[in-house]
Amino acid sequence: MARYTGPVCRLCRREGQKLYLKGDKCFTDKCPVTRRNYAPGQHGQGRKKLSNYGMQLREKQKVRRYYGISETQMRKYFGMAEKTVGITGENLLKILESRLDNVVYRLGLAASRPEARQLVTHGHFRVNGKKVDIPSYLISVGDTIEVKEGSKSSPRFKELQEGFQGNVVAWLQMDIENMLGKVVSEPSREDIDLPIQEHLIVELYSK
Ligand code: SF4
Repeated sequence: MARYTGPVCRLCRREGQKLYLKGDKCFTDKCPVTRRNYAPGQHGQGRKKLSNYGMQLREKQKVRRYYGISETQMRKYFGMAEKTVGITGENLLKILESRLDNVVYRLGLAASRPEARQLVTHGHFRVNGKKVDIPSYLISVGDTIEVKEGSKSSPRFKELQEGFQGNVVAWLQMDIENMLGKVVSEPSREDIDLPIQEHLIVELYSK
């Protein structure tokens, strides 16, 4: 299934929680989840209690929407997580966190994951000194991620630099002056601050 390109606030309303897909708007009272906290559509206010399967499906959809990935990609990552030593659900989240678009967002070089994806595809970043414009590129410990020289003076990156609050996750380091980030360790489960019950996704895909 292709990646969703429709109105993203509907996705948050469908999941009944903020997925932070719109950057600054998500933190204002214009956020539709704050104003209309029920699923979109004709039957949005009349949904029944979820079955076990329904809960597993919603959890998986929520994660796909957080990271902006297709079902095919999600299945692929799950396959990788199963083959990795450790707890499958945690492995899955660690792989998702390692995507370049997510790392750019976590470094504060984009206001949301969708914006990070766009900036990556437009070729604004270098990984270990080489241009990478693939949002799904998986970064590793020791990698550096830098805004390319010609983009550092662009109004958007200047704005992001000025708004930088220094709150980068523990597994990343950010030198905002030089717009240079580094991956210092693998993300641990505690570092992934999203309200996700990954065991539900494992149960769903293990059927
Ligand atoms: Fe979701 Fe942000 Fe839209 Fe609110 S403003 S519904 S958090 S994308």
